[in-house]
Amino acid sequence: KELPADPIMENTRRQVSKACFSYVNPKKTAKPELLHVALEMLENIGLTEADSKTEQFLNVFTGNEVLSNTTPYAMCYAGHQFGNWAGQLGDGRAINLCEVVHNNKRWVLQLKGAGETPYSRTADGLAVLRSSIREYLCSEAMFYLGVPTTRALALALTGDQVLRDVLYNGNPAYEKGAIVTRVSPSFLRFGNYQIFASKQDHHTLKTLVDFTIKHHFPYLEDVSKANYVQFFKDVSQKTLEMILHWQRVGFVHGVMNTDNMSILGLTIDYGPYGWLEGFDFGWTPNTTDRQYKRYRYGNQPNMGLWNLVQLANALYPLIEDVPVLEAVLEDYKNNFDQASLNMMRSKLGLERKIDLDKVLIKDLEENLQLTETDMTIFFRNLGDFKKEQPLKGIEAVRDAFYFLEDIRGDIKEKWMFWFKAYADRLTLESFSDKARKDKMNLVNPKYVLRNYMSQLAIEDADKGDYKVLNELFEMLKKPYDEQPEYQKWFAKRPDWARDKVGASMLSCSS
Ligand code: AMP
Ligand code: MG
Ligand code: MG
Repeated sequence: KELPADPIMENTRRQVSKACFSYVNPKKTAKPELLHVALEMLENIGLTEADSKTEQFLNVFTGNEVLSNTTPYAMCYAGHQFGNWAGQLGDGRAINLCEVVHNNKRWVLQLKGAGETPYSRTADGLAVLRSSIREYLCSEAMFYLGVPTTRALALALTGDQVLRDVLYNGNPAYEKGAIVTRVSPSFLRFGNYQIFASKQDHHTLKTLVDFTIKHHFPYLEDVSKANYVQFFKDVSQKTLEMILHWQRVGFVHGVMNTDNMSILGLTIDYGPYGWLEGFDFGWTPNTTDRQYKRYRYGNQPNMGLWNLVQLANALYPLIEDVPVLEAVLEDYKNNFDQASLNMMRSKLGLERKIDLDKVLIKDLEENLQLTETDMTIFFRNLGDFKKEQPLKGIEAVRDAFYFLEDIRGDIKEKWMFWFKAYADRLTLESFSDKARKDKMNLVNPKYVLRNYMSQLAIEDADKGDYKVLNELFEMLKKPYDEQPEYQKWFAKRPDWARDKVGASMLSCSS
């Protein structure tokens, strides 16, 4: 109610001006069925498991019932896609149902895949089961990994069939429609601000920025130029922290367009994301980005900066001070390098800060890429390295190598050299191998949502079997725990999943 609404109340596709959102109702679904509910998230919004079993819960979170006194809406935003200005985008298949305040926290509940909005452009506003499972599992998995993220509350089938032009085998086919209920304190993106700056609608831009500060950065009380700068600084810092966590756990977002960058620094829009298996700065899961690999793993920090430059441009009319904005961007760069170094130290179990650590880390990253080396297994098993036995380094991490037998002699030597250097470096620390391992296990997860795991959950779910989905969901709640009962998931990607679209690579539109 504090933000201007689009006065047109129908669903026709259109350009919307001077409004932050359009009122829109979710589409009725044919035969809705809940597949999973996240109980922890349910509690966060003040509901119980019993509530989630009611007819009303099913109907509300599949779009068949709009709660009284609520006015669902789709947000208006623009964005840069793959470096190009794309103009108005907006919530083409996301509908915000309402907000809930519980335990002093405010949550927006949003349906993804609930039908057309004025922003659906040429698409249908729907989502299919496979992409919904991927979003549902991953957003909760990221939360438990300690990565800032939007959350998920429920996963449901709609009972409708959805046409997607390409299935895995290349044939057009119908797929099961699904809806994920996403939850976040806010779904505002960089693109929400860009759209008004691009239209030189500085009045609405200011209204939206003031609204954002009031609700999400309340410590910046009064609105002034200095506080707008501080707002931009804080968004930069949150973005930095989010991407640093991605680098730590080996998450590759895949579509870091400015419309997919949350103003709160939360990971948002789980589309063609993927997890590093072999450690590779050049890897991207997104088949649409194969040529330039703009959003590859090693480029995520840079792309964060690129996106912040676009946000700075959007906020400029309220700040009108180029050097000040440039200084914030410069800080992002320098702070990222420093924070990245410390993050890598923590992955290696190093506490003291020694200049030469930079070299140790660079050499490691080089070695990791000389032979295909599983990132998750490598860092987790490195906890078993004994500093008195540097020559047994390769033994400690052997499960991480995809082709151990094929490692060339000169590469083995590089590894020996590295393990020796690591052992020497560890002698400068005061803790035991055991204490180091315990610390490393808090930052190096044992279980991540490997791309082929989602694929297995999807294939079974498509046949109506949800065991793998349920199992992965439970396992991923404790990614840093040993959980021996799930040991089979602590393994390299199987051969069948190598470079297979779906199992390790995905396109943008699903
Ligand atoms: P994304 O690449 O997923 O961030 O999507 C970019 C834009 O396309 C956003 O405005 C989405 O809302 C829109 N979009 C993606 N898929 C669909 C769909 N199936 N129906 C309508 N809009 C969509
Ligand atoms: Mg998006
Ligand atoms: Mg998307």
